[in-house]
Amino acid sequence: MHFPIYYPVTVAKSNIAGLGAYAQTAIPARKKIGSLGGTLTTIRKGRAAAKTKKTIHLVEFDDNKALDAGTNGNDMRFINHSCAPNTYMRILGYHVEFYALRNIKKGEELTCHYGETHHEGTLKCRCGAPNCEGFI
Ligand SMILES: [Zn+2]
Repeated sequence: MHFPIYYPVTVAKSNIAGLGAYAQTAIPARKKIGSLGGTLTTIRKGRAAAKTKKTIHLVEFDDNKALDAGTNGNDMRFINHSCAPNTYMRILGYHVEFYALRNIKKGEELTCHYGETHHEGTLKCRCGAPNCEGFI
């Protein structure tokens, strides 16, 4: 599988959690930023692998398959969750694509609302947004 990144990011310490992805250039609203890299696995195997990692980088699909972004992943996996994000995720087949929700400035940290793909609402959110939902 091929996982292109159209707008390269710099990986550096995040304002939210762990490492984050920062835009190297301005990104216009609605542009495709890139596709989350990883290895296609099953949900069961993916969850077992995620347990051994500090952060969860698993996107689960409907048919028991999952993308393990911790194995052969790319920089898109450093996009942190925020309740007031500047990107959004679209799932097309087994591809997880990130798009700009609005115009993003050079140097801004990229964030995405993980929705139902992560953590089942048990991980405390530290995004700092005024409308923070409290849990991921
Ligand atoms: Zn939040």
